[in-house]
Amino acid sequence: ADAYRLQDVALALPNGERLGAPLNITLAPGIDTLISGPSGAGKSTLFRTLAGIWPFATGRIERPAGRTLFLPQRPYIPIGTLRHALCYPAAVADIEPDAVRRALEDADLADLVPELDQPDENWVMRLSGGEQQRLALARALLARPDWLFLDEATAALDPDSEGRMLVMLKRRLPGTTIVSIAHNPAVAGFFRQHLVLDGSGGTLQAAD
Ligand code: ADP
Ligand code: ADP
Repeated sequence: ADAYRLQDVALALPNGERLGAPLNITLAPGIDTLISGPSGAGKSTLFRTLAGIWPFATGRIERPAGRTLFLPQRPYIPIGTLRHALCYPAAVADIEPDAVRRALEDADLADLVPELDQPDENWVMRLSGGEQQRLALARALLARPDWLFLDEATAALDPDSEGRMLVMLKRRLPGTTIVSIAHNPAVAGFFRQHLVLDGSGGTLQAAD
């Protein structure tokens, strides 16, 4: 398969009950998608289900070949140097030192470059919520996934930066399809299609 295809997929609550009407949606490569909807509608549950780490009540899911990276709202940042934290999920890949520095710069974290190999572990504590999210975006630049799912992973950025980061991701990761749960209407124009998840069984609409 080349796409995420959901056929009659009813999401499930932790107790196994259905969450909303069944979904029939396709996320196709190259079509960046914005997902919005009220709190509790199941947006995060949809992502966990797409990731294959959460059971669903009914239906069938096809997943594409290739690599998918999910970024949560609060990234996990391990103890260690900044370089370790940046390379953490992709530690097995060959990552050029220059690529790490450039990823920080592109994520608007150029101020942190001098700290890359500082043994001081407290730098993590000094990062704001927005800086932690930028760090996770820098990781995505290094990991170069085919699919990048953002679960409110840019929500701590101010609206202008959020838009700038999406444009930056698109420029630096031209082969990556971005699917983002986001609430800032200012970024809607970035996406090719829009899924409103409201419990009634979502439909995808072309963005206007
Ligand atoms: P959204 O991301 O759209 O805000 P979620 O997918 O996080 O929605 O949650 C969907 C529903 O599942 C909500 O009603 C929420 O209360 C419920 N839910 C999520 N996680 C748990 C949990 N661990 N235990 C009980 N209910 C949960
Ligand atoms: P945000 O609203 O983006 O989450 P914060 O109020 O958390 O911002 O942080 C604002 C600035 O203060 C950031 O640049 C961050 O690096 C710095 N900062 C936050 N906590 C500390 C700290 N304990 N010591 C030094 N600087 C800090």
